[in-house]
Amino acid sequence: MTHSHDHDNELDPMDARVRALETILSQKGLIDPGAIDVIVDTYQNKIGPQNGARVVAKAWSDDAYATWLKEDATAAISSLGFTGRQGEHMRAVFNTPQTHNMVVCTLCSCYPWSVLGLPPVWYKSPPYRSRAVIDPRDVLEEFGVTLSKDINIRVWDSTAELRYLVVPMRPDNAQGLSEDALAALVTRDSMIGTGIVGMAS
Ligand code: FE
Repeated sequence: MTHSHDHDNELDPMDARVRALETILSQKGLIDPGAIDVIVDTYQNKIGPQNGARVVAKAWSDDAYATWLKEDATAAISSLGFTGRQGEHMRAVFNTPQTHNMVVCTLCSCYPWSVLGLPPVWYKSPPYRSRAVIDPRDVLEEFGVTLSKDINIRVWDSTAELRYLVVPMRPDNAQGLSEDALAALVTRDSMIGTGIVGMAS
């Protein structure tokens, strides 16, 4: 007999460990549970892919900004008010007709939180982390992205010190759109490199 219904009191082992630690630390007065809630809320609701989408839309609209983003992504991104924790450096990698960029953290789950928010579950999964490096073309196929064989795929391995933002190519028919309209086209996956930006024509 299958056991298909959910119980609120059943946590996966990692959630259970996190909750146990949170309980012990707050009982000892070492942390304020309210402060944790604020941090979680910030990353769940206030900081998300909409930040990265603004960066991409600005790069698409403003050549000087795109150049700055290419040369010093940490500064160019901070100028829009999106700053990471200390010591976190950003690099923007630009897709071109010849090269598609894709981001992974093979070691754990390093991710550009300041521009993309919390990582999706698949980003942290062992299959993605190993296969993105070994067989990126097939992984992209599974995401519904089919690249022609002559397009080179570059996979960037994130670390705690250096995190990557993919700048997807602007759709050909997006000329004349405002930055807001452009930002609305940019998906989270396109900035990880597991998606591309399309536009209904
Ligand atoms: Fe990591």
